[in-house]
Amino acid sequence: MNSPSHAESLSRRRLPRWIALGWVSVLSFVAWRHVPLAQASHSHNGSYQVHISTIHGNDGTSTTPGPQDEQYCILPLTAAVNATQIANLIEETLAKMGAGQMWDGTGAWRVDLWRAAKFCNQYDSATRATIGIEYQIADSWASVCGGDLYSCVVQSNPVVDPVNGHTHFKWMYSHLKAQHLSTDVTRARKFINHETGHVLGLKDPSGPNDCSHSVMHNDLYSNYGCLDKVWYPTPNDVASVTKIQDRRN
Ligand SMILES: [Zn+2]
Ligand SMILES: [Zn+2]
Repeated sequence: MNSPSHAESLSRRRLPRWIALGWVSVLSFVAWRHVPLAQASHSHNGSYQVHISTIHGNDGTSTTPGPQDEQYCILPLTAAVNATQIANLIEETLAKMGAGQMWDGTGAWRVDLWRAAKFCNQYDSATRATIGIEYQIADSWASVCGGDLYSCVVQSNPVVDPVNGHTHFKWMYSHLKAQHLSTDVTRARKFINHETGHVLGLKDPSGPNDCSHSVMHNDLYSNYGCLDKVWYPTPNDVASVTKIQDRRN
């Protein structure tokens, strides 16, 4: 288990256990324990892969998302952030920073991120269930992420990939701690891009000094000796996600 000791560290996965989250409380959630692996693998692989199920394909148009695109909604759960401003910041970070500094467009647009028009809780449950990614912002995610210091991603609704049979997930929840988004914009982008890297199948450092040039291995993991300040997905990150998309990981 990662045990960040630095106040800036902050992304962590929780111990496996069933979770109930409001409107989806009747659905099964599967969380996983991040077990450091011997190899310096940058992504989940094998039969159980933690990533959003839509990343292998691209079937939308320039104006409308298709079922293989990535729709996301935003759910501010605290008055500590301005809901509209934070939603705009997330969208800007994901999709308006330009090629080379954002996740949108990764792998010949198989990562194609579309912001839903409304906040997550403004949809009826059937419509909300069609949105694959939620960015939820709260003062603390201690009950979900395993500690008050952390933001984290939790996956749910496992489905089997029809091409090679690996399990991946229809719903990914990016639980962002409000303070991680509030201090300064670059730091906020760092967290948004890091957690989105988890949504897309990338992993945290496996342990001390596992510090490649990656938004997953940046100075949010300074307690592991990772000092890179990069806040956007690097060519390494894009290559890793593209391998997942190609089912070559
Ligand atoms: Zn992380
Ligand atoms: Zn997959």
